Order: sequence, then structure tokens, then C-alpha cells
Amino acid sequence: MIRNFPFAITPYYFCLMKDSDIEDPIRLQCVPDPREIAFSLGGVDDPLAEDRDMPLPGLIHRYADRCLAMVTHTCTMYCRHCNRKRFWKEGAAAKSRLSAMIDYVAATPGIREVIVSGGDPLTLPETVLEGFLGALRSIPHVEVLRIGSRIPVVLPMRITPSLVRMLRKHRPLWFNTQFNSPRELTPEAALACQRLVDAGIPVSNQSVLLRGVNDTYETMRELLYGLQRISVRPYYLFSCDPVRGADHFRVDLWKGMELMERISRSTSGLCVPLFVLDVPGGKGKMPLQTFSLLTDSFLA
Ligand SMILES: *Cc1c(COP(=O)(O)O)cnc(C)c1O
Ligand code: SF4
Repeated sequence: MIRNFPFAITPYYFCLMKDSDIEDPIRLQCVPDPREIAFSLGGVDDPLAEDRDMPLPGLIHRYADRCLAMVTHTCTMYCRHCNRKRFWKEGAAAKSRLSAMIDYVAATPGIREVIVSGGDPLTLPETVLEGFLGALRSIPHVEVLRIGSRIPVVLPMRITPSLVRMLRKHRPLWFNTQFNSPRELTPEAALACQRLVDAGIPVSNQSVLLRGVNDTYETMRELLYGLQRISVRPYYLFSCDPVRGADHFRVDLWKGMELMERISRSTSGLCVPLFVLDVPGGKGKMPLQTFSLLTDSFLA
């Protein structure tokens, strides 16, 4: 199994685990599980057909005004539900890939935002990351940069004052992270987010709806309230993609919609993320909302 899907856990994240409980939400996200290789129900390696929208290796250009650069395939922790599991064995992208990405963005005036993602871009050496951000910044039509990283959740001490000083030079820079469980909202994680926010880098959160981790009303509400308390804006809640090796995490779409309907009726709007499905086959993200006006509960 480890040959198929390697594993890595940061000591910090490991310590959040309660070892007495095999269904612990922290454990579920980081410890390999035999269910990952019990392939079933048509899980595929590339559910979003990302490979089709790559004009060059590692760069996905699916939406006209923005592109997503996978600058590495390395992560400090391999989340068992990850939808890019297929890349894990590839390691860091070659440096030449990064300069090809810069050339592509420079030659494509429609791109106004670049999402620096992976893998985890904060696993790159700081000088390489700084060079990449700086090169993007010098392209006149690139207005906004975005970093997608789980480091504030799995290795928050990496968000050092010196890293933040480097990042803030490249504003407007938006930072998206991925808290999935209220148990991840530790003082260390709060400090990491605080440092970014203090530097003028807004932090948003993209969770994945995961069975056993955050699929109850109470847990989801605790997570969303907790994010708001540390000034992190819930942005998306993704329905778990039908990726090979993550089937056991998937929550029925209607159940997810009911849950989020209940959340949005009872929770501050600033806490409510958009529940989305990344439609298999590369059709893009689609919001999942019930037809509130048509339900009896609304009229009652
Ligand atoms: C999700 C995604 C984006 C970013 O979309 P937003 O709705 O702006 O967050 C960009 N490119 C790809 C390929 C994506 O999957
Ligand atoms: S940090 Fe992101 S890319 Fe890396 S394993 Fe986790 S979900 Fe996947």
C-alpha cells in the first residue's frame, strides 16, 4: 500500500492524534488505511481530468483568467484523502519546469491570477519560491498571486517571521489553506494564520467534506466558528472527489447539501463556505445548493 501511496506525517500533526481511537479524525487524515487499496466504485487517478488541461507539465489552465501551477509534488504530510495522490511518487518538479511555467504565463495575457500550488509550495527552498513569485510579479498582466498550502495546519511553525516577510513583498497575495477538523485549530495554527493576516495576506480555507472527520452538524459548525475566531475565512467546502484510494471518505452529495443547508440557516454568513463539487471529467467547479424556496421547511 505504501508503494502505491507513500506516507509522511509531521511530528506536530502526529501529536494531535488520540492514539486510543482508530476512528480519530486526525488519524483518519494521516495514517494509511487498507481501504485505500480496496479500489471500488470506479475511483480514478485523475478524476478532474486535470491532465487534459495542462498546456505544459504541472500547469493547469482550465479557467481563462487564472491558472494553477503545481510547483512541486512534495508535501510535508500526505493527506490520505488527497485528490492529487497520483503525483506523490514524482517528487519535486525540476527547476526547468518552473521557468517554462513563467514563460507560459508571460505569453498568455488573459491570465491575471496565478495559483501557486502543488503538492505543497512551501516545501520548496525559500529562495526558489521567492524567485518564482518574483518572476510572476514582474509580469505586468499578473495582478494577483495565490498560494495554496496546508502548512499552517500540518507544520504551522514553518510560517516563520522571515518567511512571512518574504511573502508580503509579493502582495496582493492570497493564502488558501485546508483545515478540516476543529481539532486542527491549535494555538500554533492560530499563530501561523495570525502572522499571515498581520502581514496583509488574507487567509481563506478550503475544507474537504470527509466522512468521520467533519460530516456532522456539530463538528462542521465548530470548525467554521473556530476559523472565524482566528480570522480565517471559510471559502470552499469540497465534496470529496472520486479519486482512487479515497473512496472511504466520500459523503453522499444530498447528505452534504442537507448539512450545509442547516449550517447556512443557523450560522453567521461570514462562517459559511460555498459547498462545491469539482465535476468529474474536468467540467469545473459547481456550487451545490438545495432549492431552498421549494422545500417545505422553508415555507413552514
Ligand atoms: C479550483 C481551481 C482554480 C481556482 O478556482 P477559484 O474558484 O478561483 O478558487 C483554478 N484552476 C483550477 C484548475 C482549479 O481546479
Ligand atoms: S497537502 Fe494538499 S496536495 Fe499535499 S497531500 Fe495534503 S491535500 Fe494533497
